[in-house]
Amino acid sequence: MTEESGRDITIVRYGHPALRQKAAPIRRVTDDVKALVGRMVEVMRSAHGLGLAANQLGVPRRVAVVEIDGELTALIDPQIVSAKGSESLEEGCLSLPRLYGNVARPTRVVVRARDLSGKRIKVTAEGLLARALCHEVDHLNGELFIDTVDESTLHWLVGMAEEGEQITQATTLEDALKAFAASGRAGG
Ligand SMILES: [Zn+2]
Repeated sequence: MTEESGRDITIVRYGHPALRQKAAPIRRVTDDVKALVGRMVEVMRSAHGLGLAANQLGVPRRVAVVEIDGELTALIDPQIVSAKGSESLEEGCLSLPRLYGNVARPTRVVVRARDLSGKRIKVTAEGLLARALCHEVDHLNGELFIDTVDESTLHWLVGMAEEGEQITQATTLEDALKAFAASGRAGG
């Protein structure tokens, strides 16, 4: 058991096959889909995440939630229809706990999706929200931030100093993936 698995729903970690699956379209927003979104919001909040894709609960369906500055957005079958700019900033993932590194992402995206009532929506996002949407849509395509991370910036968050500064430790991608494989075998 880990701190994330106190409830009956857990976020799957690197090594789980669902994280590498291309999620299947939803098309019809049924009660089951609404229940899935409800679980995703609950898990995202309890893990203090900014976003979550259904793959991360082991469910390869095209559903993502993001919550930034108290604004919750649930996206059914999201698609990035336009992207502009590029900025490389630190990113992490609830499925790769404590691993961080810089990823280049567009600074502005337009996403088309459907909401929980099945209505078509268009989300225009900048900055952190744009980054989060790209990260979650990547998950739905079976992609992870480590696929495009600037490896020279990859590091573990080891802890916090008294001053509130982060204590970090540089790692290679190969060593990081070995560490996740080892913790998976140990049942962590
Ligand atoms: Zn993620």
